[in-house]
Amino acid sequence: MNLDILVFGAHPDDAEIGMGGTIALLADNGFKVGVVDLTRGEMSTRGDVNTRKKEAKRASKILGLKLRDNLELPDGRLEVVDEYIKMVIWQIRKYKPKLVFAPYKNDRHPDHIAASNLVKTAVFHSGVGKYDTSDENEQQEPHRPVKLYYYMQAFKFEPKFIVDISNYFDKKMKSVFAYKTQFYNPRSKEPNTFISDPKFTRYLESRSGFYGFQIGKDYGEPFYSEEEVELNLVEMLKRKNG
Ligand SMILES: [Zn+2]
Repeated sequence: MNLDILVFGAHPDDAEIGMGGTIALLADNGFKVGVVDLTRGEMSTRGDVNTRKKEAKRASKILGLKLRDNLELPDGRLEVVDEYIKMVIWQIRKYKPKLVFAPYKNDRHPDHIAASNLVKTAVFHSGVGKYDTSDENEQQEPHRPVKLYYYMQAFKFEPKFIVDISNYFDKKMKSVFAYKTQFYNPRSKEPNTFISDPKFTRYLESRSGFYGFQIGKDYGEPFYSEEEVELNLVEMLKRKNG
């Protein structure tokens, strides 16, 4: 199966937090979206690997994903090494996405930084013919995605573009809260964390509202691109609502 969009996250729930609205928007418009989590989040303070797996399944269903996979790399010890690069390239060559999304290059969690560099490196080498990833089970051809974009997690950046998620904001929040063990739950007896604090939920809501307002919409998700982003003025002028 080929995918239109492949999103990489360091931990299950990263893709939902960073770009759940955009994923739901694209899936709802008929594009095939997949998410590959690099680790199972086994170092998380709250919940465990099994509950996290079930939660990811639920969130994937809410967002309309065609694929959710997990590379089961070590949580808390992600790094840019040949073995891991090859595993990410393997995914890119298998699903041949036009667009790849990764976490932004700087963040609070070191795994997010490593995941960002890992995916960037893999996207480049995926297009290199002499970088061989074939094995006895599968012959792989080189594949270079058209674009690599980065989504926002804890640390902010100056966006290169913002996607209007006004119609998909509810779905985003539902997909985030599918991770019941990770986020605010007044009945939970587990220790509080950075993201289980109700302030984090408020931050996510206000951030979506903030970036939505920047483009004159209710809710938005910001993205970064290392390459410049083209604006098609003709298409913009042909659209009714700007
Ligand atoms: Zn994470």
